[in-house]
Amino acid sequence: MILGRPLNEDMQLRPIKYQWAYDLYNQAVANTWFPHEISLGEDLEDFKKMSEDERHAVSFLMSFFNPAELIVNRSLALGVYPYLKAPETHLYLAKQMWEEANHSMAFEYVLETFPLDREVIFKRHRETPSIKAKEDYITKFTQRMTENLDIETLEGKKDFVRNLIAYNIVMEGVWFYSGFMVALSFRQKQQLKNFASMIDWVVRDESLHLKFGINLILTILEENPDLSTPEFAAEIKNMVIEAVEMEVAYNNDMFPRGILGLNADYVNQYVRYIADRRLEELGFEPHYNDANPAQWMATETDTLQLVNFFETQNTNYEVNNRAHK
Ligand code: MN
Ligand code: FE
Repeated sequence: MILGRPLNEDMQLRPIKYQWAYDLYNQAVANTWFPHEISLGEDLEDFKKMSEDERHAVSFLMSFFNPAELIVNRSLALGVYPYLKAPETHLYLAKQMWEEANHSMAFEYVLETFPLDREVIFKRHRETPSIKAKEDYITKFTQRMTENLDIETLEGKKDFVRNLIAYNIVMEGVWFYSGFMVALSFRQKQQLKNFASMIDWVVRDESLHLKFGINLILTILEENPDLSTPEFAAEIKNMVIEAVEMEVAYNNDMFPRGILGLNADYVNQYVRYIADRRLEELGFEPHYNDANPAQWMATETDTLQLVNFFETQNTNYEVNNRAHK
């Protein structure tokens, strides 16, 4: 059983029980990157020429993303790591936690480079209701993991899955992809190209985080058939639908007027499309049936990165091959 309080008896890597976790660890190590290897000089020039509304979108993204990376780490540290017995999952989670720290530092680097008001950006994530609502949604589920949770009980296992759905499927799998799409859309207009390369690296990491989370959920459901009830399935599906509604409110604040080629409706259609993909990955039918309005995202990031996941070496991810873009 993958779920349970890890004991010293469990701290022995071989024989490996969950090969997917071990393979993902090796892929994650091969995908190691460093923000300061990307020069943002040209992007600073682009930024200076951008409209007020375009700058608002970039700064609004920063307000959400910078704390969000650390919120994911808190969910992993308090809600995931303490309840998994297999050491190969601990290896992977240690690498993921470094990656989230690295993303946080990457966004710090952007904040240091662009003329953005750090005070405004940091305050905004608690003062803007649409961002605060997203953070509070995640925190609610992580909080339960720290309060007398017994992972041996059905309710404890349900809380584990709820937290996993919240930080992984919702935060990393839907909300982050919505933000990536906005960030990468500037490259479609020949702007912020190096910033986009940085986001490409973040997306590669996040697609592995997502693969780990989905494998973990499916393993838990397989090992605990008592979790598979119609009521619990409906609850999980509703968590994703509620998250889409929260993202719609957030995108309306990001684009009060819309900017060239990009507005809240366009981004929200992508959010519904990506939410359907996550539902399918969990074994549900799609809920929205929207087409992908940003086909370039599919070739650029979300589907491409999900190919060949179970090969330990994927040349796309190799550190030595980092000059690919
Ligand atoms: Mn991240
Ligand atoms: Fe992540």
